Amino acid sequence: MEVIVLGCNGPYPSSYGATAGYLVRTDGGFTMLDMGSGVFARIGKLCKPENISAVVLSHLHFDHMSDMGVFNYYLEVLAKAGKFRGRIPCYVPPVAEEIARLEAQYPYFRFVGVKEGGVYQFGGVHAEFSRLNHGVPNYGVRLTSDIGGRRLVYSGDTNECAALNRLLRECDLWLGSAPFIGKEYKGSGGHLSAEKMEDLAVKYQIRAVLTHLCPVHTEKDYENAVFSERVQIAKAFKSYEV
Ligand SMILES: [Zn+2]
Ligand SMILES: [Zn+2]
Repeated sequence: MEVIVLGCNGPYPSSYGATAGYLVRTDGGFTMLDMGSGVFARIGKLCKPENISAVVLSHLHFDHMSDMGVFNYYLEVLAKAGKFRGRIPCYVPPVAEEIARLEAQYPYFRFVGVKEGGVYQFGGVHAEFSRLNHGVPNYGVRLTSDIGGRRLVYSGDTNECAALNRLLRECDLWLGSAPFIGKEYKGSGGHLSAEKMEDLAVKYQIRAVLTHLCPVHTEKDYENAVFSERVQIAKAFKSYEV
């Protein structure tokens, strides 16, 4: 199983950049984790977007879902030309009124509100979801590959919490947002800092890819904030073996 970074900025893209979007590739298919700004155009370098088995939206902030609209237009064009049928499953936080709105806005997707602790299968993985600690409902996910049993945790946007610790206890590679550096981190906020992410990666002895890089900082700023070789700074188009 590998995860390819398509967009690694947040909460807005750098010039010619893209916000959150990660393509997971297994022998059983493709899964998109989040669909941020600028991500749709980058999918085509790796696969046909209509062949994606499932989309997972960690939460409904724009930097994680704004390209759902153009993805839906793409599927509409294909459907009208007789080249696409059905709907792509999209796993989202279980908020009934939000799901009703999404179903109306993006009719070429089938929205599934995830259950805490429920197990879902798609794209050569099984997925377990857990609500984490952000300003709106944000669900982290552990994807375990059907072949090989490798475990990728994607935590979306979150601050520290017990549910994040539970996900990280069984994990081979952690992909997570940590936009803050140093004193920007607030204990009560909805995000991790680079230093906090590093502490957790060391504590749980896992490899981590730090993403959701805020364009007010340079890549070098993030590199200077972490010391452990367990933590890599996400790079667009780079593939990480889980
Ligand atoms: Zn975000
Ligand atoms: Zn967010």
